[in-house]
Amino acid sequence: MTYELDHRRYALPFRTPLRTAHGRWSVREGLLLRLRTEEGATGYGEVAPIPGFGRETLELDEAALIRIGPRPTAETLAAGASGLDCLAGALARALRACSSATPDPAPARDLIPVASLLPAGRDVLAVIPGRVELGFRAFKWKVGAGDPADELSLLDDVLAALPSGSKLRLDANGAWDRRQSERWLERCAERPIEHVEQPVSPENRAAVDLLLGLAGDYPTPIALDESLVGQSEIETWLDRGWPGVYVIKPGLLADPRTVLDRLHRARARVVFSSCLETAVGARDSLGWAFSWPGEARALGFGVWPLFQDARFDGPFLAPFWRWPDVTRLDPEPLWTALN
Ligand code: MG
Repeated sequence: MTYELDHRRYALPFRTPLRTAHGRWSVREGLLLRLRTEEGATGYGEVAPIPGFGRETLELDEAALIRIGPRPTAETLAAGASGLDCLAGALARALRACSSATPDPAPARDLIPVASLLPAGRDVLAVIPGRVELGFRAFKWKVGAGDPADELSLLDDVLAALPSGSKLRLDANGAWDRRQSERWLERCAERPIEHVEQPVSPENRAAVDLLLGLAGDYPTPIALDESLVGQSEIETWLDRGWPGVYVIKPGLLADPRTVLDRLHRARARVVFSSCLETAVGARDSLGWAFSWPGEARALGFGVWPLFQDARFDGPFLAPFWRWPDVTRLDPEPLWTALN
């Protein structure tokens, strides 16, 4: 069977540029693709690699789509996306929607809490009260974006601003060296910190030993994010017996089902996380998150409203999402908006 394949690129300014240890990020670039059968069944997918996160780029993805051409078969799609995980995952998702033979993952639960993303630096203190008012009790604060000592001195103010029983995650995006990581983890040990995400960069030559050492030396769990750029890295960390948390961005994976089966068999602790994609990719990623049979940790999807053009946003800002909220996300208006 041949399909009709089409794609549209986007460049969407964020409402507020994101400040992380990787720098300032103000425009999200990606593409939506559409696959149609001769009978008119339609499936959409989103390709949104994160700059600096692995080697896949939007330029490589678009070149591959042009090579695949407008009338692919399932075989030429798979061959053309080989080595490009975001593209392969998006094409697989669009193919599933065109065919009833391979269904989407079934939800394992109806309701999951959402972690609200808090901005780096002192701005965090102005944002917390509104989020608490909305009902959020799980939060992720970006650290590693400013002076480590200044940020460390803010930690107790942040904790004091949160209602008791709240969960706070810290995400350093690989900004720290060993000494800075140790200072933070010492401070976190006596405080209600859910986990510390990616204290040191995977680019650090000693990253593997350093992360395993820190995970063994301190009680606060450490979560891997930038260290997990694809399926093979996730499997390597499973083989190493990583005792901490795995941050999984389904939008970056070629075959989330295989990876998640493996993580579940290993009884891994998994947090599902956004790649700051539009509602098209978010719908797919949240599908995997709701299908996860292990413990449901707060979703790392509390990022909306995200884009200046609100038509591209995912679910509304809320402390919980229900599965029907996710299934209501419709890719077609976003596709049309890019015309
Ligand atoms: Mg992260």
